[in-house]
Amino acid sequence: MARLVMKFGGTSVANIERIRNVARHVKREVDAGFEVAVVVSAMSGKTNELVGWVKESNPLYDDREYDSVVASGEQVTSGLLAIVLQEMGIPARSWQGWQIPIETDEAHGSARIVKIDGARLNEGFARKEVAVIAGFQGVDPATGRIATLGRGGSDTSAVAIAAAIHADRCDIYTDVDGVYTSDPRIVHKARRLDKVAFEEMLEMASLGAKVLQVRSVEMAMVHGVKTFVRSSFDDPANPQPGTLICDEEDIVEQQVVTGIAFSKDEAQITLRKVADKPGVAAAIFMPLAEANVNVDMIIQVVSDDAATTDITFTVPAAEFERARAILEGARDKIGFTTLQSSGDVVKISAIGVGMRSHAGVAAAAFRALAEKSINIRAITTSEIKFSVLIDAAYTELAVRTLHSLYGLDKA
Ligand code: ADP
Ligand code: ASP
Ligand code: MG
Repeated sequence: MARLVMKFGGTSVANIERIRNVARHVKREVDAGFEVAVVVSAMSGKTNELVGWVKESNPLYDDREYDSVVASGEQVTSGLLAIVLQEMGIPARSWQGWQIPIETDEAHGSARIVKIDGARLNEGFARKEVAVIAGFQGVDPATGRIATLGRGGSDTSAVAIAAAIHADRCDIYTDVDGVYTSDPRIVHKARRLDKVAFEEMLEMASLGAKVLQVRSVEMAMVHGVKTFVRSSFDDPANPQPGTLICDEEDIVEQQVVTGIAFSKDEAQITLRKVADKPGVAAAIFMPLAEANVNVDMIIQVVSDDAATTDITFTVPAAEFERARAILEGARDKIGFTTLQSSGDVVKISAIGVGMRSHAGVAAAAFRALAEKSINIRAITTSEIKFSVLIDAAYTELAVRTLHSLYGLDKA
């Protein structure tokens, strides 16, 4: 029998009426003959509220207890959807991560799924029962404690379950009807894409497009899970297919640039007057690497005196304080005079597999941004993307400028 995983995000289950609407989507697929596993998020805003309570209780909280608290949002929606399905005459039951079990590593707060045992879900399918699974959570088998998968982690729960039960498809239902050329909330001329290559989706998600959690895309790519992004607000009787995430070879019409992403989750650090001699870059970046601080863009400027240099780089905003403490601790070894920082920056990125075979793609962006008097603080490029760091105040202007530049605006 054909199998399907359907995942519904926070806005799709925000209240009981929306949960009823979700149930109608599920009913359609059950009536079509699918064995269905549903993965739900917490009601929108719930996880933020729970995280807020944890931090208010103690900013230096125990991350195992954090998981115990924040996993509760999904426990509620999984139970509610099972109740609504039963009321519609569809046999259903809820599953918490530990009941399946979805086993994770011990990295509480951003745990990775290590193994999913599909046996109990299969028994449920044999009973003709819809499985309603709480997303975002699993269990660390070493301790038996609940672990959560990082923000946006229900996407990863869904794709991982699809791989584990060999589902024919994984449908990620959200509040937009697919993946767009840029965030449709910011770029009103953004176009919906019928297909996006795994590699591009991975970059888009990593560079700020929160429509899918990065790990869910990795998982879909590695396990070849046929994954669609589609809207839960479509009429359940007449749904649209959404966007398919697929292999590059399956996309006929290839653009040079497929999408523009942005991330405000960046902080810039500049170390002034660092000695210009071998070993200094290692002295700066080794301790950061050892502390798992992700350094992204790096610029080293040659100074006039030939003896010292300035080094600028970015770290995730959430890791800024940790990075600063590490650098201050290594100050004698590195030998900088001042550490300057700015959190008021945004990283704007253009992504497209077509960049592999086209030159001058980034250069065109530099000129277009200059024409709008937008100053570029840092640049990085790789095979299928480039990113520029600019002042956050220019986010929308810059995103829209690049979106038009690469011919992505809808007519
Ligand atoms: P859910 O709660 O369903 O998981 P999310 O808020 O996590 O939903 O993701 C959907 C949101 O992602 C959309 O509302 C949209 O604003 C945002 N988004 C960012 N970039 C894109 C993009 N390129 N295409 C579609 N949506 C995007
Ligand atoms: N509820 C969790 C979050 O808000 C997981 C998810 O929605 O994917 O991050
Ligand atoms: Mg999400």
